Amino acid sequence: MDLDLSPYFSEALRDYKSPSQIARNVTEKWAKDNLYCPKCGSQLKQHRNNTEVYDFFCDHSNQEFLLFPTPLEEFQLKSTKSFPCNGFPTKILGSGYDAALRRLDGGMFPSLILLHYERKAEEVRDGMLIHRLSIPPSSIRPRKPLSNSARREGWRGYEIIMHGIPYVGRIPFIEEGKVTEKETVLAKWKYVENIMEGTPNDRSWRSEIMLIVDKLPPSFTLQDVYSQESNLRNLYPRNFHIRDKIRQQLQVLRDKGHIKFVGNGRYQKSA
Ligand SMILES: [Zn+2]
Repeated sequence: MDLDLSPYFSEALRDYKSPSQIARNVTEKWAKDNLYCPKCGSQLKQHRNNTEVYDFFCDHSNQEFLLFPTPLEEFQLKSTKSFPCNGFPTKILGSGYDAALRRLDGGMFPSLILLHYERKAEEVRDGMLIHRLSIPPSSIRPRKPLSNSARREGWRGYEIIMHGIPYVGRIPFIEEGKVTEKETVLAKWKYVENIMEGTPNDRSWRSEIMLIVDKLPPSFTLQDVYSQESNLRNLYPRNFHIRDKIRQQLQVLRDKGHIKFVGNGRYQKSA
């Protein structure tokens, strides 16, 4: 993986004028030449422009990806540079809320590729994959619909809230200019597929419980998780067995080795 964007910039600057078109062109071409499928390791392919909602795909293992490139903020907070933020914005803007929800319900929402690049140095700085199975419906929110005068009336964009995605689903492949070993990325991808096994509804619950566990210390109690019951009730107003659901999902996480039960209602996160 070569992080140098300069050949792509010189080409794009010749062909385009608008900064957003240049950015799109540069990052897409770079991604096409450099990115591999995190499931099987083979080269990703790019859809022809405007023909598909997914930017990239792998035809070996039937994976779809959306690319979200952002220029690096010059005055970035140090605290947001490392995991789980890796310097990426807290919200990712997408288009077509209703279609996105339908795809999510049908288990067809694509995985995301987040890219950070430095315009001046013409270099990719950070890259993170978001595994589609780890994206719960609660992390996708509608934006204000377009006004009546807009071309497509009532059409709504969406935003993906980064802090609504459990840590396990965020897989860095470039961190501050350092490329992660491919084997590590593939192993993490596989880990998510195992831990997020189940129906879309199962996965949604598991993500919510993992989000709670992410924020707890390495050793925690069942009571700590129960203390978030009211948030879960807001998310699942028609479910009257929230505590049963919590215990069920903790058990799945334990069976899959993500947490350990150490007795007396106490759990330990696996390393
Ligand atoms: Zn693949």
